[in-house]
Amino acid sequence: MKVALRDDDTCYFTSPETLERVYHDVWDRLPVCLATVPFAVGYERKGIPQEQWRSGEAFALERNPAIVPFLKDQIGRGRVTIALHGYTHQDYPHGYEFQAAPDPERRVREGLQYLTSTLNAPISLFVPPHNAISKRGMQAVAGAGLNLLGSFLSFRPSMRAWDAHTLGNWWRIRAYRGATGRTKRDPLVYPHVLRYARHAEFGCHSLVPGTTVEELVAGFEEARAEGGNFCGATHYWEVDQAIKDVLLRFLDHVDRVPGVKLVTAESLFG
Ligand SMILES: [Zn+2]
Repeated sequence: MKVALRDDDTCYFTSPETLERVYHDVWDRLPVCLATVPFAVGYERKGIPQEQWRSGEAFALERNPAIVPFLKDQIGRGRVTIALHGYTHQDYPHGYEFQAAPDPERRVREGLQYLTSTLNAPISLFVPPHNAISKRGMQAVAGAGLNLLGSFLSFRPSMRAWDAHTLGNWWRIRAYRGATGRTKRDPLVYPHVLRYARHAEFGCHSLVPGTTVEELVAGFEEARAEGGNFCGATHYWEVDQAIKDVLLRFLDHVDRVPGVKLVTAESLFG
């Protein structure tokens, strides 16, 4: 069984010290997939200066002179991998970036090119900002040759481009819901990669304020019982001591289980 970890929102506004503080005793145990924003536009959240919440200005990652060499160094040490996390991560009045931006194809293409060359890193995964993505956004991601790492993406065929796998995957999810006693309204993280014609998807378990170690362990144990894999998802900027303790206690649980490998998020798709 494989266990991976993803962390969202590394961008121009991220300081190496914050990532270091959160992951210094984690990333040599388990590499962290940093879902990174190439040209961040500010919005209202902790860690972004208030004057950028509504400025609309896009900040290329390299305008932060500390973060690029830091990330390259950590990539070289095998502590982090890089996923593409939107292009600007900006919110539109009628939706999140990969639901509402008029040009998702250009955003994926240029974002991928920029991050790959700036960080000199191979990138194979896309994480939608706010885990929200439209049918067209999904096609743009697949068209760029990326796989999707999400949380609670919709499996409904109406939300997707139709291909030979769409219906089969929808049935697979339905059967899994039934077998695990879930209704449509119960949260579900399917523990296997879902393969579509041009891309594959894997869902993550959120580690956010309020998540308990029992919830993560239950998700892990369910995935294990199903012969599946597990990926956690968090945001460095909201990881306080309480969340960090949950993460460490979860990893201690995982370490006690024989046959579990702590891997990069990319390896979940291998
Ligand atoms: Zn994000």
